[in-house]
Amino acid sequence: MVFTDDTAIMLQAAVVLANSGVGTDTMTTVETLDGWYAGHLHTEHRASGPEELESVRAVRHLLYDLLSSDRDTAATRVNDLLAESGAIPQLVRHGAWDWHLHGVSADADPATRIVVDTAMAMIDVVRDDELDRFGICADETCTGIVLDLSRNRSRRFCSTACGNRNAVAAYRARQARD
Ligand SMILES: [Zn+2]
Ligand SMILES: [Zn+2]
Repeated sequence: MVFTDDTAIMLQAAVVLANSGVGTDTMTTVETLDGWYAGHLHTEHRASGPEELESVRAVRHLLYDLLSSDRDTAATRVNDLLAESGAIPQLVRHGAWDWHLHGVSADADPATRIVVDTAMAMIDVVRDDELDRFGICADETCTGIVLDLSRNRSRRFCSTACGNRNAVAAYRARQARD
């Protein structure tokens, strides 16, 4: 792993959330938000309802801008986001999770927690100068963010859907040539 587990988990979660607002919006119901919580966060949480959905949807562009920034811009954005949200980092141990950082208290607004936890994860990325782990999807029609934490840095597409679409296109192009 390039980063500690909780950093990597939050970065993956933030990328999925940011990408849900790219192209066709895929975060349109409380159920899809709950699915994202269950699939990507390390804490048990269920959305309280449509208001929470709206507030989380509304921070996606902040996440997208942060995750697609160059290093200096990312550093400034992290500082601004942490200051604006009144982050108070605390070491926490809960469930199966050993001591790790939470940026705001557990009863903070969920959208704020997502932004702060993403900003905290980006601290590691900026400090380790690993911004090139982030890229934009190689699909010509997609601007989704690609996060590549693999050793050989082989990820080019933001999703299996984009990967498959391009694999099919490449296959057809080969067939047409032969
Ligand atoms: Zn935690
Ligand atoms: Zn894509």
